Amino acid sequence: MQGIDGLHPEKDGLKMKIARRAPILAVIILVLSAAVIIAWPRRHEATFYPIGVIPFRIVAYERTAFQFRDDLEAVTARMAELVAVFNRHDPTSELARMNDKARSVPFEVGTDMLRIFELSRKWHRETNGAFDPSVGPLIDLWKGAGANKRLPTADEIAVARHKAGLDLVTTMGNGKISFTREGANLDFGAIAKGYMTDEAALVLKQRGVKRGLVQAGGDTLAFGDGTFRIGIQDPTAKSGEGIVGTIEMSAGAISTSGSYERFIEIDGERYSHIVDPRTGSPVDNGVVSATVIARTSTDADAIATALMVLGLSDSIDLIKRLERVEAILILRGSDDYDVWASASLVPRLTLGPDWLGRVHLF
Ligand code: AMP
Ligand code: MG
Repeated sequence: MQGIDGLHPEKDGLKMKIARRAPILAVIILVLSAAVIIAWPRRHEATFYPIGVIPFRIVAYERTAFQFRDDLEAVTARMAELVAVFNRHDPTSELARMNDKARSVPFEVGTDMLRIFELSRKWHRETNGAFDPSVGPLIDLWKGAGANKRLPTADEIAVARHKAGLDLVTTMGNGKISFTREGANLDFGAIAKGYMTDEAALVLKQRGVKRGLVQAGGDTLAFGDGTFRIGIQDPTAKSGEGIVGTIEMSAGAISTSGSYERFIEIDGERYSHIVDPRTGSPVDNGVVSATVIARTSTDADAIATALMVLGLSDSIDLIKRLERVEAILILRGSDDYDVWASASLVPRLTLGPDWLGRVHLF
């Protein structure tokens, strides 16, 4: 039927109906798209800070927003549990209580502490003592020196060295740890972050995440299919402001230890936060950073610290001896820097133009 004066009652009526319902339709479309965004599995990432300023970043693929919210909650809870075990500077932590009590009575420790202690003992052995969690008294001495701006005397170093040494720590085989000398204590600063990274990834995997990444400061662990590109911090640039190059990784761990960010300064001289257990003094062997690629983040973290102590030649020997472990060391020469890298990394290592001409392979 043709309408009067060009009006089309049916069409116009429909138009009016649509116009009236437009807000409702908009709301429905909005709700539907929000539901799709929330329920559609995709890549999610989040950063949180379980220990001071160190960012922990987790990435999970193929997760819905609800799943990822619960993933994050589970990882955060597990990390809080581990901080309560390993934070030596919190007097209520299990480690602080053990350091306080184990001098007089064997201290009963939990599973995490026992596992990290056993792994530490393994890496202490493998690195000929370069990795040594019993250097706590020496770390305290040098921290104090940094705060007071006064170098420790040879006597003070000797006294602290007397309290260091893994032979002063015994496990009774019954979940108890005890120290055989007054003043001995343990510091897992060189391995705990790697352990936490492994545990965060384990939580994600147990929750059904098939592909993901955990990054805790200088420790990264990737799992699942696909490859990840990880930047290696330029030790001459400010944190996060420059990279030496990138490494392409499939599942596995990569950790960097370096003296360029954490150090003490006395009379204009910088001293590393890593102590050479053989001398009792901060390392000073030209290695400014050590990056290690290994299967677990715990291993990569411990080995990276050990390389900082071992220096170039012994580091090369160690890396060659270990299976499925690769490394990149950056050394400070008299007027420039050199990169030393495992030859097996060549297909996966991309160096920036400034660093390309300075690579040596081993
Ligand atoms: P990382 O950044 O992983 O190399 O760990 C450095 C931290 O490990 C230091 O801040 C100390 O708490 C601790 N540490 C220092 N020297 C050693 C060493 N030779 N072996 C094991 N841990 C160490
Ligand atoms: Mg380490």
